[in-house]
Amino acid sequence: MKAVEKEMKYSSERLYEALIQSTDDFIYVSNPKTGMFRYPPALVEMFELPGEVVDNPLPCWKAIVHPEDWGRFYKSNVDITSGNLDSHSVEFRAKKRSGEYVWVRCRGQMLYDEAGEQELFAGIMSFMGKQNKIDPLTQLLNYAEFYKALEMRIKGSMVEQLAVIVIDIDEFRQVNELYSRSFGDQVLKGMGQAIQALLPANASLYRMEKDKMGILMDNAAEHDVEKFYSAFQEYLMKIREWNEQKLNMEISAGCAMYPKDGKNVDKLLRHADYALQHAKARGKNRLTFFTEKILLEKNRSLELVYQLRNAVEQDYRGFYLNYQPQVNPVTGKIKGVEALMRWKNEAGQVVSPAEFIPLMEEHRMIYRAGLWMMRQAFRDSREWLEKRPDFSISINISALQLLEEHFLEDLYRIIEEEAFPRENLIVELTESYAVKNMEIFREKFNDMRSRQIRTALDDFGTGYCSLAALKNTPVDIVKIDRTFVKDILHSEFDAAFITLVVQICHTVNIQVCLEGVEEQAEQEFLKDTPLDYMQGYYFGRPVAQAEITKKLEKE
Ligand code: C2E
Ligand code: CA
Ligand code: CA
Repeated sequence: MKAVEKEMKYSSERLYEALIQSTDDFIYVSNPKTGMFRYPPALVEMFELPGEVVDNPLPCWKAIVHPEDWGRFYKSNVDITSGNLDSHSVEFRAKKRSGEYVWVRCRGQMLYDEAGEQELFAGIMSFMGKQNKIDPLTQLLNYAEFYKALEMRIKGSMVEQLAVIVIDIDEFRQVNELYSRSFGDQVLKGMGQAIQALLPANASLYRMEKDKMGILMDNAAEHDVEKFYSAFQEYLMKIREWNEQKLNMEISAGCAMYPKDGKNVDKLLRHADYALQHAKARGKNRLTFFTEKILLEKNRSLELVYQLRNAVEQDYRGFYLNYQPQVNPVTGKIKGVEALMRWKNEAGQVVSPAEFIPLMEEHRMIYRAGLWMMRQAFRDSREWLEKRPDFSISINISALQLLEEHFLEDLYRIIEEEAFPRENLIVELTESYAVKNMEIFREKFNDMRSRQIRTALDDFGTGYCSLAALKNTPVDIVKIDRTFVKDILHSEFDAAFITLVVQICHTVNIQVCLEGVEEQAEQEFLKDTPLDYMQGYYFGRPVAQAEITKKLEKE
């Protein structure tokens, strides 16, 4: 024996004693040949273990480890004892004597002797909460842990393929606004638990931020992710009550696959996020996998957002309004117009509002742009109103605009500043938003109506509104979506739907506008349907202000 070694000889028993007294973590040792474990007194006390030395402690742990984490815990231990792995690291919730669960990370190392036999197994258990790893609300691992875990998996050799999934509750902001913050918190907590329960053993869940959660699924293929997602959707469809409140919850998810969609953490996260955004933009309530096409689209929108910001800063450069006539179906005369936003980008291309309005919403530009647009519409319509005092101007507002606290204040102020006659204004809001969140909107709609401003439910028939709900909906006009006109000549359903909506609306004093009439045949087909307004390319496409003036002069 060399001198140094002689000097450093010590009793393993005393070493153990010294170590357990100098750390807040719990050091354990085990003899793999006998299956005996030794735990420090503090751990025995905390979890009510039968003693410091326990023979085959797995049954004891079964009572301590959270049922949702047991599978992972068990597998991790079996991997060691069966010789599959020689080290492990497993995170789980453990029930303290007090009944409260704490997150624990257990790491251990198996040592083998010269004959290749398992000789000693030892490791450390530590509380994770202490180290700021747990999100206090959901008790899930937090974003930093997600990031670390992802990094570790990429560096290590344990996983060949990894699914990085991000999940986000659709319109969660409105859940908070509709109910309360604390209700929103309860929903998030419940959501976390629900996902946890549905996840397969090879996956772990993290809370990223707000209502966004992350999942890492080891060695998973796309169909594994799909399977989990549809199980979760199914679960959400069954649960219609959260904390005794009725609430239909929907979620969107984006997924990027390692190594296919990125070989480093940042890229994978970014790509999973892009996939999520794509899912949101395509109508939400869906799972989307990252593709190169999504990346191209994303790059285009980044460029557009950049240009939109510039345009807004330069006093809405490139923005202007077009107006589409709305006609009286009996006389064929123009009763009013719908103002539609247009934008010419820096390359001089006209970008569709279907593309730039969602971008402006997402990047919080829509509110001010909406105010700009109203003022513009009021100014543009001045000369029409002089000649036609009953002419109506419809403007579109998105739910985000209406949700803004000062919306009504700003609207009334601009009306006043521009001296616009309120009774000539119609405010359109898309049905899918309006109806799902009628409770928030009711007050604002009623406020507008009490000042003679009319309200319209846009794109009717594409959302969730039942005909019965119309009775209690504070709107003056229902605009039937153009998809119903498209097939009217061939689809009995669509024709019947239009007739029925008109009948029902008229019994509750709601006027009906039909959008998207493109052909004479369609107009003729509808001759006997007592519609109040018709709108569509057949009567006129959206055109510049001066064109409408000309049309009115001709009439
Ligand atoms: P929307 O409110 O449903 O507007 C009607 C859309 O249908 C317009 O598209 C119009 O050009 C189109 N359209 C009208 N008649 C016909 C037809 O006969 N056939 C076909 N195929 N299409 C027809 P546009 O101008 O591209 O606007 C798209 C959407 O962008 C609008 O749908 C509206 O939701 C939104 N939008 C436009 N301007 C504004 C705005 O100022 N503020 C807000 N928040 N949204 C706006
Ligand atoms: Ca509209
Ligand atoms: Ca519409």
